[in-house]
Amino acid sequence: MKDSKNNEYNKLYDWEEASKLINKYVLPIFDEQKDIRSKKIIDTLPDDMLDDIKRIKIPKKPQDPDEIMKKANDIIYNYRMRLNNPRFFSFIPNTVSPFSILGEFINSSYNPYGGGHANSSAISYLEKYLMNWMGSVAGYSEKELGGLFVSGGSMANLTASVIARDEKLKEEDYPLATAYVSAQSHSSVSKGIHIMGINRKNVRKIKTVGFMMDINDLEENIKRDIENGYKPFLVVGTAGTTNTGSIDPLDEIADIAEKYNLWFHVDGAYGASYLLSSQRGKFKGIERSDSLTWDAHKMLFQTFGCAIILCKDRQAMRRTYSQNPEYLKDVSTSDEYVNFWDLGIEMSVPARGMRLWFTLQLAGTDSIKEALDKTCENAKFFEEEIKKRDNFEVVSSANLSILNFRYFNKKYSEDELNSINQRLSEMGIERGYAVYYTTILDGKTVLRICSTNMALTHDEIINILDQIEKDIDKLAL
Ligand SMILES: *Cc1c(COP(=O)(O)O)cnc(C)c1O
Repeated sequence: MKDSKNNEYNKLYDWEEASKLINKYVLPIFDEQKDIRSKKIIDTLPDDMLDDIKRIKIPKKPQDPDEIMKKANDIIYNYRMRLNNPRFFSFIPNTVSPFSILGEFINSSYNPYGGGHANSSAISYLEKYLMNWMGSVAGYSEKELGGLFVSGGSMANLTASVIARDEKLKEEDYPLATAYVSAQSHSSVSKGIHIMGINRKNVRKIKTVGFMMDINDLEENIKRDIENGYKPFLVVGTAGTTNTGSIDPLDEIADIAEKYNLWFHVDGAYGASYLLSSQRGKFKGIERSDSLTWDAHKMLFQTFGCAIILCKDRQAMRRTYSQNPEYLKDVSTSDEYVNFWDLGIEMSVPARGMRLWFTLQLAGTDSIKEALDKTCENAKFFEEEIKKRDNFEVVSSANLSILNFRYFNKKYSEDELNSINQRLSEMGIERGYAVYYTTILDGKTVLRICSTNMALTHDEIINILDQIEKDIDKLAL
């Protein structure tokens, strides 16, 4: 190897070989997309091949590169859930844009230090500009807002909760602090509140009506807590719950947050992207929140590890996260120079937002809007088709791109219906045509459809329901 003649570099820096391997083995990965529908949606490593995997040890010497790369493509990465398959409906399927992969690839090739202006001036400027744009989409004032790219919605929720605590509580009040989430809010919200040291028993799970936060129950809980000497400090509304896609009554939550001086955080990990769609009108009140979680690796079609936390007041982020406020005095005078480590938990970070920047530049927001609108239209179509059939009951109508339904026949008890629907989900997975896991709503086991892929066709939707009806026949119901 040329570079190692003087022993300055060793194998670790064989750029030539890495470059060859990228051409030969990495670029062709895109080809899988061409026939993604023909690939197994859930492909689990067979047991005998697991032994092959277990035999791969950590070596002292370089291994044969072709062998390693072939193993990577044929075995290691082949066995996975193909989230990009239009008929995968579980979790929030990440239907990634190739421009996001391109952006991530470029970014990690240059490997800029994403922490601030001094280290990557144009990049940090663009990231900040991007967050300002996202904030303005949510109705925040660009002049005042702060934003930070983080690894995901869980990190964003935690990052916001700590700011809420610092802004609304005195340290001696921590043991009495209470926070309000809904029974449908994401587990990461309570987790974050727990991580920052608030008593688990002081997180109130507010009842829901139609899977949305019940405002009356929220206010009653707050009043009762104040009467009992607790210190309410945070209410979290969800803009697009993971289970049903429902949007909490954000405007009314904002009223209550104002009335009782609580921090109002909105978890829009899944839903906030729909601000860019025709569904925008459903988010009224989001602009009144103090902070907002927005996952780009969900409905902005980015690779994993790309989410954003927005805070209406940049100075509040700094008060919590900056460790050297004297130094900050200088930089805070200029909006141009931002040091992201002063706004959140992490220090050494990739420029996580650049992949999104590339996607927006190369695809444009019209494409995003069209893709988002199509996901909602598909969910609606799914619902209409379900309603046409006798075997089914819609449990939660299409909200954004999520709906829930179940097999229903009044000759069966609720327990029996639960196990039938569980079985129908399993039969779907065994057959492999489409993947729809169950969730539990009001104690009922239901089939959950999160339809995030614009390529899904109406014929496929009809066919899925036909297939489920065939499974119902097989169960002789
Ligand atoms: C997915 C999700 C989260 C968690 O986000 P991660 O990126 O998985 O950490 C939080 N809230 C909601 C509503 C979500 O859908």
